[in-house]
Amino acid sequence: MIKRSFKGGVHPLSRTHEGKQLTRNKAAEVFEPEFVTIPMNLHLGAPSEPCVKKGDIVKERQVIANPVGFLGLPIHASVSGEVVSVAEKQQLGPKKVMCITIKNDKLHTLEEPMEPIGTCETADPKRIVQRIKEAGICGMGGAAFPLHVKLTIQDEKYADTIILNGAECETHLTSDFRTMLERSDDIVAGLRAIMRAMNCENGVIAIEDNKPEAIEAMKKAAEGKPGVRVVELKTKYPQGSEKQLITVTTGREVPRGKLPIDCHVIVTNVATAAAVKSAVEDNRPLIRRVTTVTGKVKTPMNLLVPIGTSVHDMIEYCGGYDGEVAKLVAGGMMTGPAAPTDDFNITKAMGGVVALDAKEAEACEEGPCIRCGRCVSVCPIGLNPSRIKQYCDANNMEGAKNNNVMDCIVCGCCSFTCPAHRYLTASFKNMKDRITLASRLGGKK
Ligand code: SF4
Ligand code: SF4
Repeated sequence: MIKRSFKGGVHPLSRTHEGKQLTRNKAAEVFEPEFVTIPMNLHLGAPSEPCVKKGDIVKERQVIANPVGFLGLPIHASVSGEVVSVAEKQQLGPKKVMCITIKNDKLHTLEEPMEPIGTCETADPKRIVQRIKEAGICGMGGAAFPLHVKLTIQDEKYADTIILNGAECETHLTSDFRTMLERSDDIVAGLRAIMRAMNCENGVIAIEDNKPEAIEAMKKAAEGKPGVRVVELKTKYPQGSEKQLITVTTGREVPRGKLPIDCHVIVTNVATAAAVKSAVEDNRPLIRRVTTVTGKVKTPMNLLVPIGTSVHDMIEYCGGYDGEVAKLVAGGMMTGPAAPTDDFNITKAMGGVVALDAKEAEACEEGPCIRCGRCVSVCPIGLNPSRIKQYCDANNMEGAKNNNVMDCIVCGCCSFTCPAHRYLTASFKNMKDRITLASRLGGKK
């Protein structure tokens, strides 16, 4: 087994204290909430358009919102019951989002299944891509990019390798790890379906070496499956970042400003591949996911929940908070947004929720740069974060752009390592958003 890595990166915490030990041995437990509140912006692109109204009785798996625009996806009821509201609600972002709230009758009355299209080994390649859209599948590793769009490529382009990201390099999270143990055959079947859809002969499942059980399970599942192999990666953050993953597994570099498909690779996540299997072979849309609830909660767990489950309800199910919580993070500690309250709902791409105490949250005051160069040495993209920050602080968009701020993957390594606690990553994200907005507005600053 070859262990591969990349230049830069950090080890957020030592292996024994990376937080994963809290839940790595906890099999996904089914949690059935009383209500689900499903946001219409579950995926990247325009929010879906609700097609049900207050008072409607819906079946589990029924389409409750229609796709809008090129990136659009349908949204399905994750439980059966009564629609009690269709209204804007606060979720994680700054703006309220249209949400559909369903009172769960716990009867699991099912919508008619989607029309069978065959198996992952026999279905028509075009139908596989259509089915992925019909099933509302987006990347479940955090990006929420609609998978059917990734698989719809222009004629002159082609993919020769599909990479499944099983690195789960963020601290604390073990939802992908548990999925690899508990649905290893489904992950390989889903990978084979994606390979079939893309007429592609190579499938790689990339896993960090702090997950030996998952490596073993996936290798076993891959046995006898043509073209599928497991690649063992060194444990290092951000090993699961798309560009790093492509380089370490294929030796190819995604050119600046280009996409993985430009070097003939498509990357998606292991849980997403399992969802593809369910959609293609079992004719089921994506309505549930495994999410890790961990950190300062009384009983950290992995929960299999309907999309739209309240984070507050999940924390209560885990016994509530364990002591004083200084910060709640949706996703991993390195990149997940801080949530002001636990009043938000699980999306298709939310792999976990981490409650941190004051020491872990470590809210430090920003100090002056001491020119130690540590941020430069850890940046996996080869940027100079210290210099870019000067331009951000000076509000100089051109300077930041010329120093390649748009290549920043917002991984957080520079902020993590900076002894002066400079707010590097936050500044870069803000600058990137401003540059993107300015270019949409026709170059106005
Ligand atoms: S500059 Fe961007 S890509 Fe480089 S370490 Fe910082 S956050 Fe990561
Ligand atoms: S790590 Fe922090 S203090 Fe050191 S050079 Fe970078 S910004 Fe300056």
